[in-house]
Amino acid sequence: MSDISAARKSLSEVYGAFINNEFRAVTGPTFAAKAAATGEHLADIARCGAAEVDAAVSAAKSAFPMWKAKTPEERSACLNRLADLIEAETPRLMMIDSLDIGRGLWETGIDHAIAVQQYRYFAAAALTHEGWGRPIPDGYLVAKREPYGVCGQIIPWNVPAIMAAFKIAPAIAAGNTVVLKPDEHASLSTLELGKLIADTFPPGVINIVPGMGEEAGAALTAHPGVAKLAFTGSSQVGRLVSLAGANRLVPVSLELGGKSPNIVFPDVAAEDIDAIVDNVTFAAMYCNGQSCLAGTRLFLHDKIYDDFMDRLIASMKRIKVADPTNTFPLLGCLVSETQGRRVQGYIDIGRKQGSLATGGNRAEVRGCEAGWFFEPTVFETTNDSRIAQEEIFGPVLSVIRWRDYDKMIREVNDVSYGLASGLYTRDLKWAWETADRLEAGNVWINNYFNLAAGSPFGGFKESGIGSEFCHETLNMYTHLKAITVQTGVKPSWFAPKA
Ligand code: NAD
Repeated sequence: MSDISAARKSLSEVYGAFINNEFRAVTGPTFAAKAAATGEHLADIARCGAAEVDAAVSAAKSAFPMWKAKTPEERSACLNRLADLIEAETPRLMMIDSLDIGRGLWETGIDHAIAVQQYRYFAAAALTHEGWGRPIPDGYLVAKREPYGVCGQIIPWNVPAIMAAFKIAPAIAAGNTVVLKPDEHASLSTLELGKLIADTFPPGVINIVPGMGEEAGAALTAHPGVAKLAFTGSSQVGRLVSLAGANRLVPVSLELGGKSPNIVFPDVAAEDIDAIVDNVTFAAMYCNGQSCLAGTRLFLHDKIYDDFMDRLIASMKRIKVADPTNTFPLLGCLVSETQGRRVQGYIDIGRKQGSLATGGNRAEVRGCEAGWFFEPTVFETTNDSRIAQEEIFGPVLSVIRWRDYDKMIREVNDVSYGLASGLYTRDLKWAWETADRLEAGNVWINNYFNLAAGSPFGGFKESGIGSEFCHETLNMYTHLKAITVQTGVKPSWFAPKA
């Protein structure tokens, strides 16, 4: 059971950069971590800059030869130990995330369960990440996977535990060392993770530099000691990270935004409609809509439109908006005032470019007056409206009516993103053809968010470059080295003949 005062008391008053398994004393500027719902001050955090990033990269660089030389079994054991500690600490960590970012406890608990699963998945994957080899005339060719070195990793605020695990687990499993920058709106659980890392990993293997994007983030992307960059966040900042990688010719992997569709076909069985409504509701409202994977466009067939909309509106109205920490709400508050004003702006646009079906207002929650709570909001609109094209990152769903299959597919793909998608039909041919034609990294047939561990997760188009969550991710964190061996020394082809 989560205890709010125990979680608060467990926080440090001030957090410095986490380097070489220690929190550094803070001598420079700090920023405050505040509870999203109440505005309560939770802790002060060092606003790291170039000096701290430099110290962290140098610690990671010094640790790299030792970590690279560890056997896969040794790396795997450390990752499994970290997973065990996170599991044991989950009630405390999920409460810290709920306070910090305003999401309901039931969700932040899921985040930590997924994080634990990630560390365990890559603990196992480390044991089976093999190169390959084959005989060549009088010898043998070995293609060997080698880690890059120091990985500079930057994550957003929406699901901090999952984001940290997505970045740390594969990089470490592959033999790299890490400098991670958490988001300035959600650093606490990642810094608390540092305390667990200190009990599980040798010093310098995983380092954490909190701070602002333009300061700590930019310093990390430009640092000459960083051999690989990995970023999750907005497409706008993703471009900057990509440019920083291009300047230094280091590989960059990007997980960016989304505007994912759910498509409901006319043949769905009447007895399945309520379950599909559940899927659509969860897809749009999970994480208060602050998820890159959120299903924020619903393509609903004309034949079932009216009945489905009635049930969808009823489902949205059943969602409770409440204090994220003391109940099990389905919707907490948005992470910050900036995010709240952004969502309010899109709702205002929606009123002009669509027809409001339900919601549309800020919600009041007693005792949480600082929080930006919104009613679950649904607009009926067209695919060319701004609310159907742009990532809102709030509890807002755009519904688009369809009749013609080919036109619907064109519209679904007519968006700059391509992260996820869902579709609901009993017709296998329709399901397969649609899955084939969708420009998205994930297609979930008859069950949204169907992310089993090991399932590749990555975006098409402006949603990113590379795949996380799966065995292939280890390739993203390694180069391939070819080594040949001959059984005897051979003369070169141009050697002078006797
Ligand atoms: P953001 O891009 O503003 O910030 C993300 C991170 O980048 C933060 O740590 C921030 O400090 C840092 N940053 C900002 N400016 C930087 C700079 N100039 N140089 C280096 N780092 C910098 O994103 P956000 O608003 O915090 O997060 C929301 C976005 O993240 C949404 O677009 C969402 O879709 C995306 N997201 C994607 C995934 C995915 O896996 N595809 C997952 C979660 C969130």
